[in-house]
Amino acid sequence: MTASSAPAQHLAAADQALAAWHHSPHALLQVLRETQASAGWLPTPVLMHIAQSLAIPLSQVRGVASFYRFLHLEPAGRTRILFSDNITDRMLGNAALLRQLCDRLDVPGPGGVSTDGRFGIDFASCTGLCDQGPALLVNHRTVITRLTPERVHALAERLLADDEPGQWPAEWSRVDETVHRADVLLGRPVDSAALMRALTERPPAHWMDELQRSGLRGRGGAGFPAARKWTLCRDTAGLDRCVVCNADEGEPGTFKDRLLLRRHAHLMLDGMTVAARTVGASVGMIYLRGEYDFLLPELQAAINQRRKSGWLGQQIGRRWQASPENVFDFDVQIHLGAGAYVCGEESALLESLEGKRGTPRIRPPYPVQSGYLGMPTIVNNVETFCAAAQIAAHGGEAWARIGTDASTGTKLHSISGDCARPGIYEYPFGTSIRTMLQDCGAKSAKAVQVGGPSGRCIGADEFDRTIAFEDLPSAGAFMVFDQTRDLFEVARHFAHFFAHESCGLCTPCRVGTRLVVRRMDKLAQETQGASRGSADDIARLQELSDLLHAGTHCGLGVSSCNPLRDTLKHFGHDYALHVQAPRFEPDFDLDAELSMARQATGRDDPLAHLSNQDERP
Ligand code: SF4
Repeated sequence: MTASSAPAQHLAAADQALAAWHHSPHALLQVLRETQASAGWLPTPVLMHIAQSLAIPLSQVRGVASFYRFLHLEPAGRTRILFSDNITDRMLGNAALLRQLCDRLDVPGPGGVSTDGRFGIDFASCTGLCDQGPALLVNHRTVITRLTPERVHALAERLLADDEPGQWPAEWSRVDETVHRADVLLGRPVDSAALMRALTERPPAHWMDELQRSGLRGRGGAGFPAARKWTLCRDTAGLDRCVVCNADEGEPGTFKDRLLLRRHAHLMLDGMTVAARTVGASVGMIYLRGEYDFLLPELQAAINQRRKSGWLGQQIGRRWQASPENVFDFDVQIHLGAGAYVCGEESALLESLEGKRGTPRIRPPYPVQSGYLGMPTIVNNVETFCAAAQIAAHGGEAWARIGTDASTGTKLHSISGDCARPGIYEYPFGTSIRTMLQDCGAKSAKAVQVGGPSGRCIGADEFDRTIAFEDLPSAGAFMVFDQTRDLFEVARHFAHFFAHESCGLCTPCRVGTRLVVRRMDKLAQETQGASRGSADDIARLQELSDLLHAGTHCGLGVSSCNPLRDTLKHFGHDYALHVQAPRFEPDFDLDAELSMARQATGRDDPLAHLSNQDERP
């Protein structure tokens, strides 16, 4: 097999992508994404062509292509349909809708391809549309929201008729940005033109002082002080520095960045530019999650507009005659992810930005010391940069007056699940869960998953706790479960999610998450109406939870058993139904596994079976 054995149009697609990305090996992921759009998958001759063009080994190209779920080394259907599979989509019946579409398009089931190769259907982890689900993505770009059996039926007819997505009813792809409560971040306007001028009138130290005064902490969940991160980056020696916006909002149940990216893109870009001016960076990158591909055109338009206005690019400030010592360079490029949740971890994100597999780095060095291409790098998320812009425009003290002493300002929340008014809510830090539940119309809440699967699951006895770094930190997801929900099933769903998203780098996570799934699946099974689980299974699950918490390399592994631990602690009665077996019953059938050995030796007599070993003379 040679590179030239690939169909000409696929090679042309690869050449076009390679040219668009200037034949940079660091853009390998982008090249692969764009090349795949031609064939729907990545045949080996195409990979060989890309490897030769970039002068890198084929094994490297294949290694990257095999890492990301949105890239395919085998035919995956010329039209690929991915059903969002957050727990909230499950609660809205996505599994039945997927089966309906599979039946109509002759696809054997999730992960399958129709016999004629036209359609591939699968589940994807949360696509960030939980407030208007169930939802799906067609060819990674076209979103369809509010699925019903009627809409799925109509979609199937359009697909079978080979109608292009542009001909489908616009209503199908309607994505509402429903803000039920706005505070300073969403409600206080920032004049980008005035802010850009101010950046070239005051020195970088001024902006760092304001950030320090604000007490801003990163909005990704961990809450690292932004001023400390920016100071470390500024003070690390380097020829250039980099500002990275983490727009890989992959935590299931989170969709508030979708609103910021669509309606407040300039605020985010203002914040990135403030950061660049403050630390002395000329390189800016936005890592946009692959599921938000549909936001790309608008985001790119905002960047282009800023370049035209002189707010991005070479010599920002020269247009309005800023003094030469205050003129600075800064530009921003967007890279798309390709369906890997772990890339939300900042060092994995940097690997992915460099065109590699998204595996978390060993630290130190930290990104502020050596980040994107070895440059001292700030990585903050969309909301943090929006907050930084607000602070630069309105002052750090005004920001610090909101919230609590340890958690200043406001926080955006994506509220979904069993409530009357799902959508976006902005609250000052220190707001109680009970207030949020009242506001969103959750009348009979049994539990709330705060901060997504890697966050915490709390019950009614904790609804007076508050969202704050000193109490309940949150990256922004807020999923409500009412009294009818089985919290064991919620935790089991999240266990599958973590096992699916483990990058496989370290054994405790790669194997441990699978063992958790296997044991929880066993608890979910019944034999003749009786559960197969015993107290021993729960003890093994607790051991696995401890192992994963202590022995894994990154936050994904560490937090993967949070839902299990919390639901076991607060909702033990939901587990009771699944642990009724008086004695431990193995979930591994060793005798069945030995069938091949029996076949090879030509034996199938009773003594060749384990259950009859006691009868051996
Ligand atoms: Fe990868 Fe899991 Fe290890 Fe993180 S903990 S590096 S996701 S295998």
